[in-house]
Amino acid sequence: GKNGVPVAENFRLEQSTIADTIKEGQVRVRTLYLSVDPYMRCRMNEDTGSDYLVPWQLSEVADGGGIGVVEESKHQYLAKGDFVTSFNWPWQTAALLDGSSLRKLDPQLVNGHLSYFLGAAGITGLTALLGVKEKGHVAVGANQTMVVSGAAGACGSLAGQIGRLEGCSRVVGIAGTDEKCSILVQEMGFDAAINYKKGDVAGQLRELCPGGVDVYFDNVGGDISDTVISQMNQSSHIILCGQISQYNKDVPYPPPLPPNIEKIQKERNITRERFLVLNYMDKQEASVLQLCQWIQQGKLKVRETVVEGLANIGAAFQSMMNGGNIGKQIVLVSK
Ligand code: NAP
Repeated sequence: GKNGVPVAENFRLEQSTIADTIKEGQVRVRTLYLSVDPYMRCRMNEDTGSDYLVPWQLSEVADGGGIGVVEESKHQYLAKGDFVTSFNWPWQTAALLDGSSLRKLDPQLVNGHLSYFLGAAGITGLTALLGVKEKGHVAVGANQTMVVSGAAGACGSLAGQIGRLEGCSRVVGIAGTDEKCSILVQEMGFDAAINYKKGDVAGQLRELCPGGVDVYFDNVGGDISDTVISQMNQSSHIILCGQISQYNKDVPYPPPLPPNIEKIQKERNITRERFLVLNYMDKQEASVLQLCQWIQQGKLKVRETVVEGLANIGAAFQSMMNGGNIGKQIVLVSK
């Protein structure tokens, strides 16, 4: 439904068998890792609100980002032992998939840490990097202050670090627990972080961003974003990445700003253009290489929250939607 909070009980596990023989062009894979992401909440509605997102059907197998290993192949370019990924991996322990729908992975690029291809070296990292590059207008030497909401999440934790790598002189995060705030500052190089659940975000932001906000990487929308936008400078930029605080509500995407905030946005000439990482896939290859290089050089710190077992994927989704994750939420299906 459009106005419900997703819970683990929305999902069930069934035992089933897959065919013994595979067809030409197919591979049999064993699933290693699955990703749960906020956009999946939109796939739980009959109308996802986006033409690129297909609704999940009741009693059909759910799907999303996944990684697995090829156990048998009748595809010309894939062999037993290859690691592969897809955005539409079925939530199954094993599957028969079309080889042409899979992308082969090189584990060396991520020092063997394969699950990074779902996060920091995958669509999450691409979202953070391309969001900053395409919509942030960040420039070395411009002395810009960046604020990131949802800062300890998968995209947010990378976006703040990338903002710094690209030239921001000050990076401030907003997240939901003291533990998350301390990780952002001590591990990920943010200058400061605000726990929005403890109140007075506006006051703390004024103190921590005395020169105002130049770039806002917005993952959450709602009250937090209204507070940040009120403190943005003339001709500053919002990277409209996501609006997770609105996903359980029946509102259009992107949700319109309240009239007083929209007035500020217009008067100060603040850009707030829709950003969708899938529109920049021509930059995928070079961007993944950049992300892998930063990871290998230790310039990009990566956090994951790993839940074990396919049976727990619904609970992992529920937990991530409620702030239970630090960095990318991953489900380990098999080793
Ligand atoms: P994520 O940030 O790890 O998402 C979960 C986090 O959101 C939670 O840990 C929680 O952290 C925060 N959250 C949940 N409800 C909230 C609320 N009501 N108010 C404030 N924070 C809330 O997930 P992600 O995959 O990195 O995605 C982040 C955003 O990017 C999402 O909005 C997603 O839709 C968007 N996205 C966009 C694109 C694109 O192409 N534009 C691509 C990928 C993702 P706290 O403990 O801090 O509350």
